[in-house]
Amino acid sequence: MKIGVLALQGAVREHIRHIELSGHEGVAVKRVEQLNEIDGLILPGGESTTLRRLMNLYGFKEALQQSTLPMFGTCAGLIVMAKHIAGEEGYLDKLNITVERNSFGRQVDSFESELDVKGIAKDIEGVFIRAPHIAEIHEGVELLSTVGEKIVAVQEGQYLGVSFHPELTDDYRVTQYFIDHIVKSALTETV
Ligand code: GLN
Repeated sequence: MKIGVLALQGAVREHIRHIELSGHEGVAVKRVEQLNEIDGLILPGGESTTLRRLMNLYGFKEALQQSTLPMFGTCAGLIVMAKHIAGEEGYLDKLNITVERNSFGRQVDSFESELDVKGIAKDIEGVFIRAPHIAEIHEGVELLSTVGEKIVAVQEGQYLGVSFHPELTDDYRVTQYFIDHIVKSALTETV
C-alpha cells in the first residue's frame, strides 16, 4: 500500500522508514493533490501551533476535514486530529477526544516507557517528548494504552492517535498495525 506522511514539519523521514520496514511504500506529502494518490496518511509530531498554521496555509485543513482517508497522528499529529484541545479550539475533528498539550510536566520533558498497547503488543517502546495526553475520550473512541492514569493511545474507526513517537525507535509495530489493520480494512470496505 502507499502511505503518505504529511511533510510540512517534523520527523518525516523516520516515519517513511517505518512504513518501508512494514513492507509498504512511503511518500512525503507536501501538496493536497497528493492525498488522492495514497491509501492512508501519517501526521507526524513537531509543534502543533506551527503545524496548524502550515496546514491552514497549504489548504490541508479543509482537505483533511473532508477526507475519509485513514489517518495516524503521533504527538503533535494527535493534537491536530482531536475534536477538542483543552483551552484552544479543536482542529480536524477526527478523534472524538479532548487532548491536553505538554501534560507530563517540566521535570520530565521527555522520557521513555514500555507500553501495553491493546491489539498491538505489550512491550511497545514509547518515546515521549513534551507530549500531550488524552484527558477525555468520548463516544465511539477505543482506549488502547495508558501511562499511569494518562491515556496515550486511542483509535476511532480508521483514525489512530498516540501521544508518543514510535518513529524515533526501531519498533515499527504501531505503524505496521495502522497499515495492515486500519488502512487495509478501510480499503476492503470501500471496494
Ligand atoms: N508539545 C508539542 C505541542 O504541543 C508536541 C510535541 C511533539 O510533537 N513532540 O504541539
